[in-house]
Amino acid sequence: MTNETWGSVREDLVKRVGRNNYVTWIEPLKLAAFADGVARFEVPTSFFGDWVSRNFADHIRSHMNAAGVAVERLEFAVARPGAAPVQTVAAPAVAVADTAAPRRPAPARTRAPDTDEVPGAPLDSRFTFDSFVVGKPNELAHAAARRVAEGGPVTFNPLFLYGGVGLGKTHLMHAIAHELQSRQPELRVLYLSAEQFMYRFVQALRERQIMDFKELFRSVDVLMVDDVQFIAGKDSTQEEFFHTFNALVDQNKQIVISADRAPGEIKDLEDRIKSRLQCGLVVDLHPTDYELRLGILQTKAEHYRTQYKGLQIADGVLEFLAHRITTNVRVLEGALTRLFAFASLVGREITLELAQDCLADILRASDRKLTIEEIQRKVAEHYNIRLSDMIGPKRLRTIARPRQIAMYLSKQLTPRSLPEIGRRFGGRDHTTIMHGVRKIEELMTMDSQLSDDIQLLRRLLQG
Ligand code: ADP
Ligand code: MG
Repeated sequence: MTNETWGSVREDLVKRVGRNNYVTWIEPLKLAAFADGVARFEVPTSFFGDWVSRNFADHIRSHMNAAGVAVERLEFAVARPGAAPVQTVAAPAVAVADTAAPRRPAPARTRAPDTDEVPGAPLDSRFTFDSFVVGKPNELAHAAARRVAEGGPVTFNPLFLYGGVGLGKTHLMHAIAHELQSRQPELRVLYLSAEQFMYRFVQALRERQIMDFKELFRSVDVLMVDDVQFIAGKDSTQEEFFHTFNALVDQNKQIVISADRAPGEIKDLEDRIKSRLQCGLVVDLHPTDYELRLGILQTKAEHYRTQYKGLQIADGVLEFLAHRITTNVRVLEGALTRLFAFASLVGREITLELAQDCLADILRASDRKLTIEEIQRKVAEHYNIRLSDMIGPKRLRTIARPRQIAMYLSKQLTPRSLPEIGRRFGGRDHTTIMHGVRKIEELMTMDSQLSDDIQLLRRLLQG
């Protein structure tokens, strides 16, 4: 095979592997020798050769064969700077045959010399474990985050945190980073959003610094990628993410990922990535409940009271807000911030009236009232039972269980009291409702299918 033949085979590969891959991986390959069905290529680093061998060898071989060159095997050898063109020795040859069984990853390389700074995204100093209020909806996520922050042996990898907007995912990730950094200052902790990951990847491709990029991401001790749903549908970024991920897991380095939904539910995310993400511990942050919201408000209000000395807040105001603003913590915080700022400006005590006045827009926006009837209808639809069975007396499990789910959701998603809910379920007693709610809570901890079902219903209802 001549260099011309290789040139044209190479051009053909663009279509096969895509422009990015081509520029990064194929173009730099130099055909060094071809004899006895073995094509030997010169590559810049052993890692490079390993990568090409694992990912593109099949393509290269089949394109060569299609061009009439009978190739059985590809070899990749590192070009030594200043050395004579490869031909002679292939040491250190890395990748062997493309038909070989999946190789172990390249041995851990020494760190890049400049280990001083890990250029991640800045951490918010307010997002610590101290300032994180723990309640039932987030206790599992919090416990898992704490565990990772202890920095002991890696027990689950990755930690995958997911949940809706403003429920504290970023807060927990920053808290992990702060904690690790203060316990082990020498640890290289890299936190960034998936968007930043992509941005850097693209930039590295453009500036032909892909090796530096890889080196950087493979040399950290802890990698945290926030909002990973962002890379769904972005093929080459996903590819890169996948390999970074695997390289770190192989080195037993901790990875923490967040997303707005469970791995399996992220559309346009490659299956192999989904399944990798599910390998560790997947925990979700549930929508806030009244107690958690109140807890958060109390903590923040305490904080503000020292900041705005002397500002009084009337009884019942925080309870009112916790009751009315159910969307997410960010909105809740925003409301409180505005309230304190306004009250200090006008020099008045924070009363219910002042709150209603000052927060009218926020209150109106979170006013989209979900009715018990809507919940009953959605649940009945989902389980394929009659709406009338929701209020009827049938005790058959296939009917009673969905009914209890609807009770549970009514308690969770509406401000209605147990007796009120009971009335709408065909005049049942409030203890029946309570029993139903508890039953579902209990089942959810044991039955993940049921728990997933309920999450789905909840999203459908709130969406
Ligand atoms: P997400 O990343 O899940 O969208 P964030 O972590 O950015 O949400 O949280 C939004 C805001 O709510 C932040 O200011 C965060 O500090 C606050 N917050 C969320 N959950 C809690 C909590 N349990 N305790 C205290 N603050 C919280
Ligand atoms: Mg976030």
